[in-house]
Amino acid sequence: MAVLQAIDAARPLPRRSRQARVIWGSTLVTVGGDAPVRIQSMTNTDTVDAIGTAIQVKELALAGSEMVRLTVNTPEAAQAVPYVREQLDRMGVEVPLIGDFHYNGHRLLTDYPACAQALSKYRINPGNVGKGNKRDKQFGQMIDAAMRWDKAVRIGVNWGSLDQELLGSLMDENSRRAEPWEARQVMYEALISSAIESATLAESMGLDGNQILLSCKVSGVQDLISVYRELARRCDFALHLGLTEAGMGTKGTVASAAALSILLQEGIGDTIRVSLTPQPGEPRTQEVVIAAEILQALGLRSFVPSVTACPGCGRTTSGTFQELAKQIDDFLRAQMPVWRSRYPGVEKLKVAVMGCIVNGPGESKHADIGISLPGTGEAPAAPVFIDGEKRLTLRGEHIAQEFQSIVENYIENRFGARQAASTAVD
Ligand code: SF4
Repeated sequence: MAVLQAIDAARPLPRRSRQARVIWGSTLVTVGGDAPVRIQSMTNTDTVDAIGTAIQVKELALAGSEMVRLTVNTPEAAQAVPYVREQLDRMGVEVPLIGDFHYNGHRLLTDYPACAQALSKYRINPGNVGKGNKRDKQFGQMIDAAMRWDKAVRIGVNWGSLDQELLGSLMDENSRRAEPWEARQVMYEALISSAIESATLAESMGLDGNQILLSCKVSGVQDLISVYRELARRCDFALHLGLTEAGMGTKGTVASAAALSILLQEGIGDTIRVSLTPQPGEPRTQEVVIAAEILQALGLRSFVPSVTACPGCGRTTSGTFQELAKQIDDFLRAQMPVWRSRYPGVEKLKVAVMGCIVNGPGESKHADIGISLPGTGEAPAAPVFIDGEKRLTLRGEHIAQEFQSIVENYIENRFGARQAASTAVD
């Protein structure tokens, strides 16, 4: 006979990190500390095309990106940045912009102060900030710009552009060891040392350590986990987490979800980016949708109502429930830009669309609102469950539309102004 035992609910481990402030206008995005894990993304437009870039930034922001990074690689791009910012401000989109600099960031941030000012955060790659005795000077120019304009900085190391001088010296040191490490372990060390030493240097130059975020990106899931566990152990800077060059489609989505989920569950990662290569015709916003789904699946944040749907099997040979699940999911997502302000809390709603009587009623009772469609051989009736109780049964040709109306009414009654008013009176 089973014995009742209390099993603790799984929850992410806490990690104390410093908290950075990324600001534009009246928008303050805190990263690290007790702030929620933030979503960021990156444009793939030519920044010189200020209008096209502003439109894509707006799309990414509306999809849920809380900061958006753009390429600043030439004087023309640096000159375009203030115009991108201006266009966004005109559209009422206050999402902070992050400048992605490589090779010439020290010159661009110095020569184009309007660009330095319009950005809210600078990404510095210590692997390509300069060579030899120019390195620290050029790095210092970027840090000076951050201090002058009061901006946050991400020191973003990437194994594809790792500081070759540092890697070479660690390789030499390793070759002198009695028992040399594997080349992979030396690479891990080079990534972490490059990030932490650069952050320490930035602090010694006067930059507030709270305004420094670190990242050490690699493209292998196990490599990323190893590197970030060690990075988190060695420092308390806020961490930008992401699998670099995650790839396309299912592969990129699954690899990012696998790597990020393990680390986020361990409390590692203060802001995330999913570096997905868009499939032809796929919107850039897909990377934001996936990042949000990862955080929501882990129970770290809620962005859109969730739709639980069964996979279907031989008990339900019609596609009706698949179509209904998709229709409801699309409908809920499409409404969110308006619902977010009209129905506070609606993002926590749980809807179930199930294919037959086996798990349908049970799963529907666990949701806020659920429908159990008839499987093969069952009577053509679809019971609807609201707040765990069977409330009505739908039949006939228009089950989909009727269920959608029931969901809308439920949302209005539970999250709408009337409900808020009655709660206030109570
Ligand atoms: S709920 Fe029914 S249709 Fe859906 S997977 Fe389970 S048994 Fe199959």
